[in-house]
Amino acid sequence: MRIFLDLKWFFKQEKKAYLSGVGILLFVAMLQMIPPKVIGFIADHVKQGTLTKTTLLESIGVLAAVGISMYVLRYYWRVMIFGSSVKLSQQLRNRLFEHFTSMSPSFYQKRRIGDLMAHATNDLSAIQQTAGAGVLTLVDSLSTGGFVVIAMAFTISWKLTLICLLPMPVMVILTSWYGNMLHKTFHKAQEAFSSLNDKTQESITGIKVIKTFGQEKEDIEDFRNQSEDVVQKNLVVTKIDSLFDPTISIIVGISFFLSIVFGSKYVLSGELTIGQLISFTAYLGLLIWPMLAFGWLFNIVERGRASYDRVSELLSEKIDILDEEFASDDVPSGDIHYEIDEFTYPGETTPVLSNIYFSLMEGETLGIVGKTGAGKTTLLKLLIREYEIEKGSIEFGEKKTKEYKLGKLREAIGYVPQDHFLFSASIAENIAFTNPSAGIDEIHNASRLANIHEDILQFTDQYATVVGERGVSLSGGQKQRISIARALMMNPEVLILDDSLSAVDAKTEEAILSALKQNREGKTTIITSHRLSAIQHANLILVLDNGTITERGTHEQLMNAEGWYKEMFLRQQLEELVEHGGH
Ligand code: ADP
Repeated sequence: MRIFLDLKWFFKQEKKAYLSGVGILLFVAMLQMIPPKVIGFIADHVKQGTLTKTTLLESIGVLAAVGISMYVLRYYWRVMIFGSSVKLSQQLRNRLFEHFTSMSPSFYQKRRIGDLMAHATNDLSAIQQTAGAGVLTLVDSLSTGGFVVIAMAFTISWKLTLICLLPMPVMVILTSWYGNMLHKTFHKAQEAFSSLNDKTQESITGIKVIKTFGQEKEDIEDFRNQSEDVVQKNLVVTKIDSLFDPTISIIVGISFFLSIVFGSKYVLSGELTIGQLISFTAYLGLLIWPMLAFGWLFNIVERGRASYDRVSELLSEKIDILDEEFASDDVPSGDIHYEIDEFTYPGETTPVLSNIYFSLMEGETLGIVGKTGAGKTTLLKLLIREYEIEKGSIEFGEKKTKEYKLGKLREAIGYVPQDHFLFSASIAENIAFTNPSAGIDEIHNASRLANIHEDILQFTDQYATVVGERGVSLSGGQKQRISIARALMMNPEVLILDDSLSAVDAKTEEAILSALKQNREGKTTIITSHRLSAIQHANLILVLDNGTITERGTHEQLMNAEGWYKEMFLRQQLEELVEHGGH
C-alpha cells in the first residue's frame, strides 16, 4: 500500500475532490445498511401476521428513496474520484515529456524508444488506475465491510457474526500471498511489453533495411517470439489474478453455510427472529463485494506500484548537461578557441580526441577533413556542448562554452548534421522550425541560399507539401538542403555544416557554398566534408586523424606540405576529371 503514500502529493493537491468523493462514498456505504434491515422488518411482520398496507408502503418508500439516493450519489463520487485521477496521468505525462526533452543524446543512447513509450502509456494508465479505482476500492471495501460487520454484530447477533467471520483470516493470508506473487509477475510482464514495443518501433523504422536484405521472415519470427513471451508472462499474471475470485467465493460460501446452520439454531432457540436471520444473510451478501474488491485492489495497487517505481526511476535520472549556477544569459559571439587536452565519451575508456588546440576568428571559415571516425563530428558536438569536456575547454567570445546558458549557446549555433530529421509537417514549417513566426519571404530566401527553392516549386503543393513519415519522398540531397535552409533561418553566429552536403553533387555544393559566403559576411562557418574542394577556400583547414590534428593551414599551405591533404586533393581532382570525361 506504499503507493498511496507515494502519491500523497497528488491527493493533497486534489484534496477537495478526494475528500468530497470519499465523504459521499462513506455516506453511500451507510445507506447500504438500510435495505437488509427493512427486509427483515417486513419478514417479521409477515411471520407474525401484523403487516399492514401502510407499513408495507412505507417500507417500499424507504427502499425506493435509498435506492435513488445511492444511484445519484454513486454517480457523483465516480465523477470526483475518476475525474481527478485523470489529472494524475496528465501531470505525470507532462513531467515525463519535459524530462525526455531535457535529456541529452547519451540518455537516448542508453534507453530504447519502445521502452520509453511503454512508460508513457502503460505505466501511466496503471498509476492512474491506482489513484482512481484503487482509492475507490480501498475506501469502499473498507467502509462497506466495516459497516456491515458493525451492523451484523451490534444490531443482530455478535455471536453469529464472530462465527461467520472465522474463515476470514485464511482469506487475508491467501490474498496477500497472491498479491506478492502478482507484484513479481506483473513486473516481468511489463518488461516483456517494453521489449515488444521496442521491437515494433525498431522494425517499423528499419523496415527498409529489413526489406533490402530480405529479412522479413526472420523479423516476423522474432516478433512472434517476443509477442509470445508477452502472452506467456501475462498469462501467469492472469492465472494468479484468477485465484482471487474462487478463493473469495469459497470463503464467503463457508460463511453463508455457517450463518444458516448456526442462525437457524438461534431462531429455534428464540435468540433471533426469522426476520433478523434474513437481514443477517442479506448483510453477509453485502460482504461479497468488498472482499472481491479487496482482492482486486491488490492487483491494481501492485500494478500501480510497479509502474510508479519505473516512472520514478526514469524521472530521477539526472540531466547530465545542466546550466552552471551563474551561467550567462548572453548569446555568445566572437572568436572561438579550442583548448581540448583530451576527450573521452562517457562510459568509454579510450579518448577520441586529444591535443585539439586552434583558434577561429569571428567571420572566418573553418574546414575540417579527415577519414571517417577521425573525430570530426565529435569535435563539433563539443562546441554545442552535447557532451561535457573533462580535460580542457572551448572559449566562445568572452567566455567558455559552459559558462553560457545552454539555450543561449545553441541559439548562436546552427548545426546541420549529415542526416537531419524532418518532421511530418509542411516544407515551410520544417524550414521555419527554429522561427515559426517567420514570413514566407524569409523562408524563400533561406531556401534560395540552400539551393532548394526551385526543387520545392516543382512539388504540387510547393511549400505546403508535407514531408516526413507521412509525406512526399525526398531525395537525400533535397533533405540535406532543406536542413540547411532550416539552419539558415536562425541566421546563426556560427553555421556548422557537418558533412551535410554529402548527398548533393559538386556543382550544387559549390553554388550553395558561394551563396553562403556572400550572405554570411562577418559570420563564422565551419564545414566538414569528404569533398576537399568544398573547403579549399576556408581561412583555416584542419586535417584530423585518429583524434588529433595532423595538418593545419590554408589550402595553399597544405598543398605545399606533401601530406595526406595534398594526396587526397589531387586524387579527388583526378576522379572528378574521369567522371566528366565519361560524359
Ligand atoms: P567522424 O565525424 O570523423 O567520422 P566521429 O566524431 O563521428 O568521427 O567519431 C570519432 C570516434 O568516436 C569514432 O571512433 C566513434 O566510434 C566514436 N564515437 C562517436 N560517437 C560516440 C558515442 N556517442 N559514444 C562513444 N563513442 C563514439
